[in-house]
Amino acid sequence: VSTINDSSPLSFSNDTTIPASTFSSNSFVNVEKGDPVAFGPYWEKLRDECMIEIKGDEWMSYFGDANNLCWYMVPPMRDAILRLHNAVGNVVTKDKFLVLGTGSSQLYQALLYALSPSEPSDRPINVVAATPYYSEYKDATDILQSRLFQWIGDAALYDKDEPYIELVTSPNNPDGTLRAPVVNSGAEGKVIYDLAYYWPQYTPITYEVDHDVMLFTFSKCTGHAGSRIGWAFVKDIEVAKKMIRFVHLNSIGVSKESQIRAAKMIEVICDGYQNLKSTKSDHLFFDYGKRLMKERWEKFKGAIEQSKIFTLTKYPTSYCHFNKDLSEQYPAFAWLKCMEGIENGESYLEKLKIRTRGGERFGVDAKYVRVSMIGTNDEFIELCTRLSNAKRE
Ligand code: PMP
Repeated sequence: VSTINDSSPLSFSNDTTIPASTFSSNSFVNVEKGDPVAFGPYWEKLRDECMIEIKGDEWMSYFGDANNLCWYMVPPMRDAILRLHNAVGNVVTKDKFLVLGTGSSQLYQALLYALSPSEPSDRPINVVAATPYYSEYKDATDILQSRLFQWIGDAALYDKDEPYIELVTSPNNPDGTLRAPVVNSGAEGKVIYDLAYYWPQYTPITYEVDHDVMLFTFSKCTGHAGSRIGWAFVKDIEVAKKMIRFVHLNSIGVSKESQIRAAKMIEVICDGYQNLKSTKSDHLFFDYGKRLMKERWEKFKGAIEQSKIFTLTKYPTSYCHFNKDLSEQYPAFAWLKCMEGIENGESYLEKLKIRTRGGERFGVDAKYVRVSMIGTNDEFIELCTRLSNAKRE
């Protein structure tokens, strides 16, 4: 850490939860999961501003707002989500229904239900995503062996003359690429846009996205994955109603405590941008987040070049309407491909005591491997050290 100058967001960390000594030469650096704790030091600085108080008699009801179609969503949550998108300019919120979920993972299940055929006699609808796809989609689709929907796999290979649901994750997890639908079968298709990473710390905000079904998550926006808050913008009221029915039967709504907390964090972010003149630049969340991701990526690229084991995905530069600058992408994950002669990236890195997620989980071969860029500062520094010291066998 000492090589990084004091104004750097990397040195901003005084993360005491994982002491540097955790990393003895025998211990693993775990960059397998996408736990977004990297922004913790930012929130630590603002901990007092983010305090909320919930009294004993407050938020007891199942209902949040009986006048809203999404009856379990509390008004401060709805207002905060709309205010955030309005500030960032990443989505057209007008003429859409807002559906809240316990993480976007719950809304994914709700959407599979809502977009499936309603006649029980119909065949299960086919669910596809272009490879490499987010590794949880497959298991989340097939866990209940539903008669309504079934996982098929690679959207690029889909050639059935049957209805389908295509998942488009943009920027994509695992490889950070910007994506559009790829199915070319002529059959009737519905598209779910998973925009978990369409936030300014990861990618330039190039336009306001406007699709029939769009998923967002608080987890990757602010880093508060533990609150389990996700939301969907949906054009068709019938789809929105079916999703709300699913959330009703699955969890009778979403925790009011989580909603109040999430609304507060979003309010703190938006207040910062609204009062630009009086906010210190390292107190602007997305500015901080982008600087952190940029510094991590620069350091990581250096380590990968030194190691001569992997190649990295290349990203375009585009104009960001939010930051008002030309910018590269700084994805939440690095997607590595082994150079000639190495067949399995995950097991290669396992020998270096780096735990990662191999390509097969994402529908591609074992030459690829995903590495989280959003873990703790100590983990990240140790990851770069181990990679740059690695000598090819
Ligand atoms: N979609 C994508 C592409 C993700 O990467 C994740 C989190 N890893 C999710 C959805 C799920 O997010 P949540 O925490 O809101 O359930």
